[in-house]
Amino acid sequence: MAAATHFGHCQLCGALQKLPGGRLSLHGYTTRYGYFSGVCRGARHLPFEKSYHLVLDAIDNASKQLHDTLDHQAALRTHVDETTEAKTRVWVEDLRTRKHSYRWENVTLVAERRDHEGGTNLDMTPYGPWFSVRYSYTSSDGKKHDNITGAQPYEAGNESLSVEELRQKTVLKINGTYADWLEHEVDSLRRYVAWQRERIANWTEQPLLEVKPKKDTSAFKPTEPRY
Ligand SMILES: [Zn+2]
Repeated sequence: MAAATHFGHCQLCGALQKLPGGRLSLHGYTTRYGYFSGVCRGARHLPFEKSYHLVLDAIDNASKQLHDTLDHQAALRTHVDETTEAKTRVWVEDLRTRKHSYRWENVTLVAERRDHEGGTNLDMTPYGPWFSVRYSYTSSDGKKHDNITGAQPYEAGNESLSVEELRQKTVLKINGTYADWLEHEVDSLRRYVAWQRERIANWTEQPLLEVKPKKDTSAFKPTEPRY
């Protein structure tokens, strides 16, 4: 059994970790949301120096996830009907930490005709429908919150659209922004599959590291979201 003073690299993410009982200790990804988040499933398994049996499955899973994400992006950009919700970033407060952050939530868009009110963002559509964005979210203390904000409608230009058509175009516009945001996940998954394939192409068993190197850059770094 390897002592916990030895180090090895994770089969799944490449992070350098201590090896209590010869297995990787618990560790996680730092990028929030999506495939590369939470506790790494390579924890409690043999290091890459001794085994690559997790990698083949990881390549399969990431390829499937990539395929699903591409499908999801395409659907967000094209699919809309009278029941489709929009996915948008909303500003929420964590009541326990009092910190605000953006998070993606499914929201419903409701068309409302508003009277012109000077000095507010309702100026955008003084005579047409304005869209209320209604959303609920659960904060870390378990409480549910119902909120309303606004959305800038799709610019109809010379098109003559019904209110429902305008709502659907607005949903597509909003969901398109979310689909663009998912690009970092697509990029990560493509790079991950290529990285793992290259890593196992010439795999041979290696000794564990007895000393932790000062600098180790072998961990896979997921692409950060642009916003
Ligand atoms: Zn890992």
